[in-house]
Amino acid sequence: MNTITKHTGILALFTALCTGCSPASPDTRAQRVELPHEPDAHIFDWSPSCPLNGSWTMAMHGGAGVILKKNFTAEREQAYREALSSTLEAGAEMLRNGASALDVVETSVRKMENDPKFNAGKGAVFSAAGMNELDAAIMDGRDRNAGTVASVKRIKNPISLARSVMENSRHVMLISEGAETFAEQQGIEMVDPAYFYTQKRWEQMQAKMAKKQGSLIPATKFGTVGVVIKDGCGNLAAGTSTGGLTAKEWGRVGDTPIIGAGTYADNRYCAVSATGTGEYFIRATIARDVCARREFAGEDLQTAMDAIIHGTLTDMGGDGGIVAIDNEGNFAFSFNTKGMYRGAVRHDAPVLVKIYK
Ligand code: ASP
Repeated sequence: MNTITKHTGILALFTALCTGCSPASPDTRAQRVELPHEPDAHIFDWSPSCPLNGSWTMAMHGGAGVILKKNFTAEREQAYREALSSTLEAGAEMLRNGASALDVVETSVRKMENDPKFNAGKGAVFSAAGMNELDAAIMDGRDRNAGTVASVKRIKNPISLARSVMENSRHVMLISEGAETFAEQQGIEMVDPAYFYTQKRWEQMQAKMAKKQGSLIPATKFGTVGVVIKDGCGNLAAGTSTGGLTAKEWGRVGDTPIIGAGTYADNRYCAVSATGTGEYFIRATIARDVCARREFAGEDLQTAMDAIIHGTLTDMGGDGGIVAIDNEGNFAFSFNTKGMYRGAVRHDAPVLVKIYK
């Protein structure tokens, strides 16, 4: 029996007494819960802040790109499906138990960051300088507070540092060594840069460098992770984490930590996480545009997303995809690549996982 189940009685009591379940209630993050399915038995602090029987939605991606069935063995495909579905199941368990959108976003992204299959945290791609330079962002749809970090090299879980920037600094974005100094002050887990080494990513970088193609080639990137949540209080949050593009140069930063480009959340309209060639997502302010189309044109979520991905992004020559949820708890995916690792789960619907078009 996991700790979440053990605490259900306490949670029920909390919920009965809860007067702070409104969308404006702050997180107190007092409870230590051992997460199910977490590969390194990570302990994460959270406290229930929403009713146990609320309506909630979770959607996520694990990157988009040239993802073709013919390139997958059955085992490899199964491993990706398993990673996505276990993250969704763990997130669903938290949401059922009254976790906040922010806690579930952070927990789920951390889990993907610890999984070397994805281009975030442990599985991050290498830059041309032979480094892993990580970007992440988190956004709270209640008040559009946000925290982001770029080009950090010693942070095991950049999403947690992004959250700390949001909650414990006066700023939205911290980069590189400055972000790491802040992380040390905050007690965020630091690692030696060698922690991020994986043979596969090293070889991908070497192969790309040998071709002298530059980093903006669609086939050579995928695996960024992103999660969007509507919790049982009705609050939205979004989080995204990435190693960026293989062989990126000169301190290049993509869309992931740029609020409005790769990550956005606003309780009134939607929460969005993007993956793809970040330059286009920055130039087209893609994540914010989804919510803006809902706000100003009254479009439904899928219409807004498809107009941006199959219209704006495709017309500009960009590639990638987005996952999003709206203020009513609907989720949707849109991408113009061959595939996108993606999935969703709702209080009233089972886990759904898809990879190919
Ligand atoms: N969007 C990320 C970036 O440009 C990469 C990706 O999603 O694969 O840094």
